[in-house]
Amino acid sequence: MDTDFFVAWLAEAGRRVRAQRERLTELDAAIGDADHGANLDRGFTEVSKALADAPPDSPAQALVTAGTTLIRRVGGASGPLYGSMLRQMGRTLEPPQSPVTLAAFSGAFDAGVLAVERLGKATAGDKTMVDALSPAGRALALAVRDGVGPRTAFEQAAAAAEEGARGTIPLRARKGRASYLGERSVGHEDPGAASAVLIVAALAAVSA
Ligand code: ADP
Ligand code: MG
Repeated sequence: MDTDFFVAWLAEAGRRVRAQRERLTELDAAIGDADHGANLDRGFTEVSKALADAPPDSPAQALVTAGTTLIRRVGGASGPLYGSMLRQMGRTLEPPQSPVTLAAFSGAFDAGVLAVERLGKATAGDKTMVDALSPAGRALALAVRDGVGPRTAFEQAAAAAEEGARGTIPLRARKGRASYLGERSVGHEDPGAASAVLIVAALAAVSA
């Protein structure tokens, strides 16, 4: 995965978020404040602008620029969380390397998920984006172990994220705004888990 791959990934994630903006907003309307679609759409639009204004010369730089942009430009919780994830992924890929191997990508992704868990003080089962991101990371690590190619690895990660997101439906939220609802958060998919599926699925879409 070279610099162009990472730029293409972020652009594709943004397109998918835009296409699903209403669904993300509806999910957030049910257990949050109905801004998740708007937050991420604006955030990824800013990411595309930032990457066009200052073309990155390494995967690490693309990720750090994108992460910093999300942290600065998104008001909701998801901006700093996804932003920290991408920035941590970028830092893990220093010193700059291109192309990034699937094993290195997998290690960086796991470090990114850990950054989300630390910042959000969230763990699996709290009904957050972690419930989709963490299984995606595990699927990537298994794919590396099995010597699977990137495209298949990313498809497996996307399937794992989707299963994880569906698994948030019966959970009671323990973090974020949805936790204010207590039992009433049960029966709805977590919006951040739903957006995590889009972001991971974008990896498969841009893989050769
Ligand atoms: P806000 O909650 O500030 O309106 P968004 O609507 O953009 O922000 O994002 C909400 C999503 O962020 C949630 O669905 C959840 O997945 C994620 N989230 C919120 N708080 C946390 C947290 N403490 N740890 C992990 N993820 C969180
Ligand atoms: Mg919200």
